[in-house]
Amino acid sequence: MLQDYQVLRIPGPTPVPPSVNRAMTQAMAGHHAPLTNQIIQNIKPRLKKFFGTEQDILMVPGSGTSSLEAAIVNVASKGDHVLVISTGVFGHRYTEICESYELDVHELTVEWGQAFDVAAVIDYVREHPNLRAVYTTYCETSTGVLNPVGELAQAIHAINDSIIVIADGVSAIACVETKMDEWGLDLVITGSQKGFMLPTGLAFIAVSERAWKVIEQNKTRGYYLDLVKHRDALTNGTTPFTPVLSLFYGLKEVLDQLEREGIENVYARHLLMRDMTRAAFKALNVPLLVSDDAASPSVTSVKPDDFDAQAFRKILKEDFNIDVASGLDVMTDEIFRVGHMGYCSPTDVLQYVSAFEIALTKVGKRVELGAGTRAAQQIYLQHTTTTVTQ
Ligand SMILES: *Cc1c(COP(=O)(O)O)cnc(C)c1O
Repeated sequence: MLQDYQVLRIPGPTPVPPSVNRAMTQAMAGHHAPLTNQIIQNIKPRLKKFFGTEQDILMVPGSGTSSLEAAIVNVASKGDHVLVISTGVFGHRYTEICESYELDVHELTVEWGQAFDVAAVIDYVREHPNLRAVYTTYCETSTGVLNPVGELAQAIHAINDSIIVIADGVSAIACVETKMDEWGLDLVITGSQKGFMLPTGLAFIAVSERAWKVIEQNKTRGYYLDLVKHRDALTNGTTPFTPVLSLFYGLKEVLDQLEREGIENVYARHLLMRDMTRAAFKALNVPLLVSDDAASPSVTSVKPDDFDAQAFRKILKEDFNIDVASGLDVMTDEIFRVGHMGYCSPTDVLQYVSAFEIALTKVGKRVELGAGTRAAQQIYLQHTTTTVTQ
């Protein structure tokens, strides 16, 4: 097997496109150099449509979790009541961060593999009128569930206009349509290594006008993650601390790529990859964790009932150098997760599905070779409008 031929099909990090890797090798410039200012001014307006907002998108060095922490330390202070809706590992991470800041955190836990129920959350919010903020996860990457965060934000603000609603969009932004302003989400956050196809190291945070009022009045915003600092610098096309210029170079190239494809087509591609992947597993009689109506376009969780998930992953790795992810936490051995986000195309889906068929056979599952690939091909043909005339 070719040693450097590696197929990364985990739900982040995504592979980095070659053009983006090349862009990131450009020479360094100083923090306040004209070039640095130019690149920030170039990126700034182009990011907005991926969040569906007119607000500037703050860029803070750090992995995705730093954006979760920023959304907590800026919005709430010690003793404030906040609600975390936990649909898996990433939802629960908010709770851990909130506890570290000694917030009074309420956690609504939803069964893993299910999306939260808007009506149930609204009941809770009605009973707790003193909540400062509600923390939600758009795509819960540990299960592959897409939560109705937009619907929830609208329903919350219909009964209480002062609650700040936060969506962790780390595995959703630039994969799934997001309409922050229209839905009334107050903070939408992501990291660079998922839909944006970059290496890890940059967090993105969009903040609504309602949230800015709360943040400006908060006296304990911390230092490095103080969003007012980042906002004021960004207004002038700069950053409060040395910018991660290599990632900015890469991001500019990513935006070129995604704009050339067209944002609607980026979202359609992710939906197509989800549908192809799910059709393949269904045709192979391998159970999926999440129902069709809650399934994320960026990651698919599979819950085998007659073979060992870890043994399957081992064969994929040894035979093809394909990485799929295990489950996390309580689901570590129960599921495996296929990432189809960022630098991933329907061609890649056809490749991994056919490799899955081989690995399934080797792990002892009886499958008809080609059945999953055929199902994925059929979905592809149904979804694509181009027809070849003879
Ligand atoms: C990947 C991910 C994160 C962030 O993880 P980091 O390891 O800090 O980058 C947070 N939330 C979700 C939903 C994610 O998918």
